Amino acid sequence: MVDSIRSSLPPAYAHLFNAFFDRPKVVETRANCDNCSMCDHGEASPVAMEFFNSDTKCCTFWPTLPNYLVGAILSDTSPEMAEGRRRLEQIIAKRVGVTPWHVDRPRKMSLLMTGYSASFGRAKKLLCPFYDASNPAGSCSIWRHREVICMTYYCKYTGGSRGHAYWIALKSYLLYVQRSLAQTAAREIAPEVIEPKFTNKGLTLEEMEDLPPKESDYAAWWKSWVGREVEFYKKCHEWVVNLPPAQFAKNVDHSKEGGPLLAELIGKYDLLESKILPKSLVRNARMKEAHVGDKVVVTSYHPYDSFALDKDLFEVVGLFRADQTLDENLERLKRDEGIELAPELIDYLFAAGVLVDPNDGNAKQPAVNNNPGELKGRRAALGAVLEARGLAADDAAKARIAAADAATLELWIKKAAVARAIHEVLDD
Ligand code: SF4
Ligand code: SF4
Repeated sequence: MVDSIRSSLPPAYAHLFNAFFDRPKVVETRANCDNCSMCDHGEASPVAMEFFNSDTKCCTFWPTLPNYLVGAILSDTSPEMAEGRRRLEQIIAKRVGVTPWHVDRPRKMSLLMTGYSASFGRAKKLLCPFYDASNPAGSCSIWRHREVICMTYYCKYTGGSRGHAYWIALKSYLLYVQRSLAQTAAREIAPEVIEPKFTNKGLTLEEMEDLPPKESDYAAWWKSWVGREVEFYKKCHEWVVNLPPAQFAKNVDHSKEGGPLLAELIGKYDLLESKILPKSLVRNARMKEAHVGDKVVVTSYHPYDSFALDKDLFEVVGLFRADQTLDENLERLKRDEGIELAPELIDYLFAAGVLVDPNDGNAKQPAVNNNPGELKGRRAALGAVLEARGLAADDAAKARIAAADAATLELWIKKAAVARAIHEVLDD
């Protein structure tokens, strides 16, 4: 029997969620965390890869632990939580990032993490304080109680773009839940405590030097709970554990913000399970392409989840038209080009984000540059493709090419790559 979504959530709040969470959990097999799929295992790749560091994997991230999960870790006396608990107690003793709602990363680290895409998965400086390199079998020392970002992140998705959309929706809903629970728990346990608001981006001297906040600031936030933070966090955990699901549903799932997030999540799960395709599909105009020999490596919905396609197939999907339904496109390709595309292949191309709904943002061509140099370059490229394919342009065709804008020339270059006559290139 497949585990439920609920079974994969931290035990502190798993009981709160509605019946949707009893449906089978989504299992990601392409992200193999035990033998990290983003690390170099010496396998050949069609394009140069920027591998993750095997000493960090994707844990170059400092989580924001909500108060009730902090309490869950501190209350968990099982042997496998001993290391995580020890690390957390050390952080709380240092008072850095320790507030009534969270145990958070130092603000200096937050600044570093605003522009760290080139270092993600690689920089040891960013390694999570709960990552236990001495325990390869369980490198996350707080796994059972990990927070939402850690729980919903994958580098690759078995269901492709549908899977990615599901995890994004789950993350958005659970982040809302996490925020609501942390705030309400703190208010219920100790209405007098104050969560600090860090509105200005500048760091204090203490933050720059990795020192605790000023005694007066810390006392203003924590009031009589200074020195009793562990007790406070454990009480927040207890409060969440004892929260009745009906009260949670009223305050979270039926709230103005929570209701739509839950509906979106259920919708994305259904789309992933049902594999329904949009009525019409066109090639994604915004994906990154790397042309390597007879392959095109495309990156569409996620920077670490690329797919290699045969060049011919890549050209064929460029012939899909937004003004035709999927069936009409397939019929036209069969009739005019003698090309038949199997339903499984169409589904794969949609999951890979190569084919997209023409009504979503990815189908629209990015802004094109119509400056004279750009136009000249595209006309020359079109001329070269026409010549290579033995397609002669008459005077009327030449006039149209001379008057075309950059986007049209780009389209014609793609059509010319597979056309057998000049009218197939220039006609709609
Ligand atoms: S999710 Fe992280 S640990 Fe798992 S395979 Fe991907 S990069 Fe590696
Ligand atoms: S909490 Fe665990 S999963 Fe999350 S970044 Fe740290 S080590 Fe990785």
